[in-house]
Amino acid sequence: MRILVLSDIHANLDALNAVLADAGQFHIVWSLGDIVGYGPEPNQCIARLNEYEHLAVVGNHDWAVLGKIEMTEFNPDARRSNLWTREQLTPASRSYLEELSETRVEGDFTLVHGSPRDPVWEYLLSVDEAKLSFSYYDTAVCLVGHTHARVIFCAAADGGQCTASRAPDRVPIRLDNSRCIINPGAVGQPRDGDPRASYMLLDTELMTFEYRRVSYEVSETQRKMRAVGLPRSNRMRLALGW
Ligand code: ZN
Repeated sequence: MRILVLSDIHANLDALNAVLADAGQFHIVWSLGDIVGYGPEPNQCIARLNEYEHLAVVGNHDWAVLGKIEMTEFNPDARRSNLWTREQLTPASRSYLEELSETRVEGDFTLVHGSPRDPVWEYLLSVDEAKLSFSYYDTAVCLVGHTHARVIFCAAADGGQCTASRAPDRVPIRLDNSRCIINPGAVGQPRDGDPRASYMLLDTELMTFEYRRVSYEVSETQRKMRAVGLPRSNRMRLALGW
C-alpha cells in the first residue's frame, strides 16, 4: 500500500494542494495532526482531506481551537491565530476535530503528533528525548510531527544507542529491522529553513519511505492571511521556512 504521510498542514490549503498534486497515486492519507492553526483556510483544509480516505491523529493546535488546551500555553501570535480559527470553524469541522484520537496503530506503524510518551505535546528535538520514547510504543516505526522539521531517529538493536539522521529527497529509504521514529516535516509551516511544503510517501509492501518537497505560492497564502488579519510574524515565517 502506498501511503501519503502529512503533518502540520496548519490550515495552509495552497501548500496542501501542492502536495496532493505532487504525490502521484496513493491509497490513503495519514495525517499526524495540527490540521488547523496559523493558516487562513482551516475549514477548506479539513474538507480537502475529507475528499480522500484518510486516518488522522490530533495535534496541540487542533485541541487548542476546541478549548481542550488552555490558550495561555501558546505564544501571543499562536494564541491569536487559534482564537481566530475557533471563530471560523463550521460545526462539521468542529466535530471532525472532536473525533480525532491521540494515537493510532496501523500494522507496523504508530501515529502520534508529538511523541509516543506524550502524544499531543512533547517535542522530539534531540536524540536524548527520542531515546526515552522507544519504550512507549510497540510497533517497529512511530510517525511523529509537531516540530515541523524532518528527522529519523533509530534505536540500535540492543536498545542502548539512538541516532538521528536526515535523508535526501525523492530517494526511497528501506525500513530495516531497527526501530525508528520518523518525522515527515511540515506541509503548511516548515521550520527547517526550506519554505517548500514537506511530506513523505510510505510503501508498506516494499517497506520503504521517501521524503519529498514541493514549492507552492507562499505569497498567495500570505495574501489570504493578511486579508483576514492573521499575525504578521506567522505570515513572514512562511517565506523563510522558519
Ligand atoms: Zn504544528
